[in-house]
Amino acid sequence: MTTNKILMIYTGGTIGMHKDLKTGTLVPFDFSNLINQIPELQLIDKQIETISFKDPIDSSNIRPQHWIKLVEIIEKHYDYYDGFVILHGSDTMAYTASALSFMLENLGKPVILTGSQLPIGDLRTDAKENIITSIQIAGSYEGDLPIVPEVGIYFEFKLLRGNRTIKASSEHFNAFDSPNYLPLAQSGVNLKFFKERILPVPDGIFNAHKQLSEEIMVLKVHPGITKTHLSYIINIPGLKALILETYGSGNALTEPWFIDLLKQATQEKGIHLINITQCQYGSIAPEKYETGRQLMSIGTFNGKDLTTEAALTKMMYLISKKLSKKAIKKAFERPLRGEMNV
Ligand code: ASP
Repeated sequence: MTTNKILMIYTGGTIGMHKDLKTGTLVPFDFSNLINQIPELQLIDKQIETISFKDPIDSSNIRPQHWIKLVEIIEKHYDYYDGFVILHGSDTMAYTASALSFMLENLGKPVILTGSQLPIGDLRTDAKENIITSIQIAGSYEGDLPIVPEVGIYFEFKLLRGNRTIKASSEHFNAFDSPNYLPLAQSGVNLKFFKERILPVPDGIFNAHKQLSEEIMVLKVHPGITKTHLSYIINIPGLKALILETYGSGNALTEPWFIDLLKQATQEKGIHLINITQCQYGSIAPEKYETGRQLMSIGTFNGKDLTTEAALTKMMYLISKKLSKKAIKKAFERPLRGEMNV
């Protein structure tokens, strides 16, 4: 049964910021002002209820504990709302969307993240359209079934799968891209859903997973990386996983010290090594070149076409489940929420 109600959760971000008169920088402000700025919300045929983080943040300060808080809010209100809209800073929105996609197991309702490049009080703001359409998407049902039972990012006329999205522009209103997966919906004169690209309503019962491991690092491989750099990283106390952003189709240097240190990391220290590409488009194909094959031969996980955001949060999620090394690798290398191509 639908409830005709949408819960809007305000976490912070430019959308609700104003200029601090002393410093001239943008800082988050009170959520009630934000709602007053959009009288058009009263025209929507859904009841919109709101909840705000006690201390709204610039999303650059987001931490896994905030994702757990969001998951707790959604869990608590899950049965009472048709969908959820999360207002969030754009800087780390793709990380939050990716994390939530894994933590909200068997999600059967829309969770739509949005924000804006200009504050809602700005004359040229992009916030209003983003909020209004996000609410419409979160409330779009066919009978009792939601059209988008997944975590999405709606920004500048496009709905993208959250765990496929990256922030691609700090300048344009069209700030997000989903390089390896087509949009789930497009807003024009009509709001058009591409149903064949949207995940089905899951069979299982919704479950909120409220743990994440923070003992993970991302290392962008670059010309000039030294033995000292890598050796420091693999010796970080407690490190459980290292995500390697490699070149092109999953390639990195073949110098013996590099492979030897990584072998030591995974075989002696039990650190999970993940291979993803620095390229925005395409997938790794580590068997293609010797420079990729060597990485594969020491047991690195194949990150295929995962974004860094999805790879990081997927590992945070899987490690927190305390599975065996083999089970983590198996789960990592297959799509759990449509985040990678098969
Ligand atoms: N720094 C801001 C944030 O991520 C940028 C934005 O909201 O677009 O919170």
